[in-house]
Amino acid sequence: MSTVAAVDIGGTKIAAALVDDTGTIRERIRVDTPSGATAILCVVAELVTGLRERSSEPVQTVGVGAPGVIDSTAGVVRSATGTMPGWAGAPVRDELTGRLGLPVAVANDVRTAALGAVMDPRLDDHPQVLHVSVGTGVGGALIHDRRPMTGPHAVTGEIGHLLVPSFGALACGCGRRDHLEAVAAGPAIAAAYARATAQPVRPLTDVAARMRAGDIDAQTTIRSAAQLLGRTLAGLIAAIDVDAVTLGGGVVHGIDEFAGVVRAALHAEALPPLRSLPVLVPPAGPDTPLLGAAQLARTITQGTRT
Ligand SMILES: [Zn+2]
Repeated sequence: MSTVAAVDIGGTKIAAALVDDTGTIRERIRVDTPSGATAILCVVAELVTGLRERSSEPVQTVGVGAPGVIDSTAGVVRSATGTMPGWAGAPVRDELTGRLGLPVAVANDVRTAALGAVMDPRLDDHPQVLHVSVGTGVGGALIHDRRPMTGPHAVTGEIGHLLVPSFGALACGCGRRDHLEAVAAGPAIAAAYARATAQPVRPLTDVAARMRAGDIDAQTTIRSAAQLLGRTLAGLIAAIDVDAVTLGGGVVHGIDEFAGVVRAALHAEALPPLRSLPVLVPPAGPDTPLLGAAQLARTITQGTRT
């Protein structure tokens, strides 16, 4: 039995877990994300140290999913959006290796989640998968044979900046307008509901609760965002061609109806060969990013053994 530490760094929360080699989470902890790269890496090191102390067996390696454009070879954050001030340039791998004395691998958080998503046995014969994450932002990762594709500029899968019809009110996290993320991400849906009802912006969890209670504006707003995402993905998968699409992120896992609306809109909009494409929510749900980070950690072990 070998145990690895898995870490998922998000804009609001950092989750860490011990994962055994059956892919079962043994221990877990979740804390608020502090401000600044030094503070974040300090908290991650403390979380992993705490988990190691509680582990009945040695922790072999650490896998970290982190926001931004990540150079996995160097283990460094190459760029980050305004939601993570001071994160660009953070030497994640070397800093954590130095603090923990363990081998550390780091990758973009959506790519890490995608590694977890393709562990789904339903995807065993589906080598080419687009994973889409809808949460505070909209991100994607393209997986080929269980490995994330990166591309010459390390941005393969960054679907959040696709141009969509002008809904206009919010700027995207990249600063431009009329991008997918500015329409379909959680804060964008919450802002659209506030505009539709002329009420102050409330968290998306409140809007989702209103939808469940029968609020028509909430239902319309959430369904519109999911439909636009599905239609946009239909065009995208025609351009790149995949065996399956997987959906994750806080909006997908927090609103039961969301994935079904995305799936129906994608199939309705897609070219004929793509109209029955599997569009799946991973069985591990919100734990998918941690299981992916554990997979990332195991690539180090495999690498040192070969
Ligand atoms: Zn953008």
